[in-house]
Amino acid sequence: MADSRLAIDGGKPVRKDFLIFGKPCIKDEEIREVVDTLKSGWLAAGPKVSRFEKMFSEFTHSKYALGLNSCTAGLSLALEVLGIGERDEVITTPITFAATANVIVHRGAKPVFVDVNLKTMNIDPDKIEKALTKRTKAIIPVHFAGRPCDMDEITKIARKYSIFVVEDAAHATEAEYKGKKIGSIGDITAFSFYATKNMATGEGGMVTTNNRKWFEKMCLLALHGLDRDAWNRYSKKGFKHYEVICPGYNYRMADIEASLGIHQLRRLMHNLRIREALWQRYNRAFKQIKELTTPAEDKDIRHARHLYTILLDIEHLTLNRNEFIKALKAENIGAAVHFSALHLHNYYRKRYGFKKGDFPNAEFISERILSLPLTAGMTEKDADDVIAAVTKIVKSSYSRRRLCS
Ligand SMILES: *Cc1c(COP(=O)(O)O)cnc(C)c1O
Repeated sequence: MADSRLAIDGGKPVRKDFLIFGKPCIKDEEIREVVDTLKSGWLAAGPKVSRFEKMFSEFTHSKYALGLNSCTAGLSLALEVLGIGERDEVITTPITFAATANVIVHRGAKPVFVDVNLKTMNIDPDKIEKALTKRTKAIIPVHFAGRPCDMDEITKIARKYSIFVVEDAAHATEAEYKGKKIGSIGDITAFSFYATKNMATGEGGMVTTNNRKWFEKMCLLALHGLDRDAWNRYSKKGFKHYEVICPGYNYRMADIEASLGIHQLRRLMHNLRIREALWQRYNRAFKQIKELTTPAEDKDIRHARHLYTILLDIEHLTLNRNEFIKALKAENIGAAVHFSALHLHNYYRKRYGFKKGDFPNAEFISERILSLPLTAGMTEKDADDVIAAVTKIVKSSYSRRRLCS
């Protein structure tokens, strides 16, 4: 096992300084915009959030976009306005972040996991129908790593059984499925602008929909259930008393976050091209290494290139995945796990009785997957360091195995 301070061969690490996983790419224009906001005296939801929402609905080809303080808030609002509640069931994937299933639990509904396809690592549409019951009200497909799910099949099932589709697009802001923008397909779509995501505003998120009624209900719920927002409450348009229409939440995005988002969105496609080039560089190197499986290739979609993941052939390496990540850290390369299968986490095991073997593909991925650094702020040299470190660890871990056996 690799010592946390020593490179795997006991020598010097591949890199001198640590390459952070998921470092956001912030430029002067974001900094100037935030300063402008701070000087304006208007920090909470205001003109910049409105501008960002308008840009975002245009970008996603959706009628309505609502800026929020997280993607989790968006998923939660979506389920609430669609009327999902106690005794309902919602289908999703075990290869996702906790938030996707937590919001189902918070509605009093039951999360029903459906296994993923081994290649795409997205929910397998062929297995959805078997998981449907009279209580199924919605499906939450997650566009894992930025790869759109098979939305034709998912939409077909949803129409046939009259259930809603709420997309978790936390990884997929730039993604397209058969020429359609993610954000314009499902009933409601939630995006994340968390610090490590492709678009980073620190904390932040957005929901999009083409349904006016749902949009208005989400606006209401996102601001305490008040009948008009703070923008009108405190602006020069005059004083109007507000009414509480329903018990809402405090989920709104702030102008400080939108200041970052406006410029992050402007550079989004430019940044995607930088990540695409890094992706190809990784692919070229890692396809040569038979102990690694590189991400599947796609047709008919635009992949948002959020996470570059590899699968380790742990049967032929001396290190398991977690040890591999430790060894990468010792080479000064940050790496991460997306995701360890959600059904096997403590709460989900205990509350719903999920166990090993329930979703074999998700578990296979969960034990072998790791994400390598992939951001627009990286240079080719950074990517080459990652390649050198991964190659070094595979070789050393492989040769030691051969010596031992
Ligand atoms: C990051 C993430 C979320 C949550 O996003 P927040 O904006 O942090 O709430 C939800 N789903 C997936 C798949 C994510 O990766």
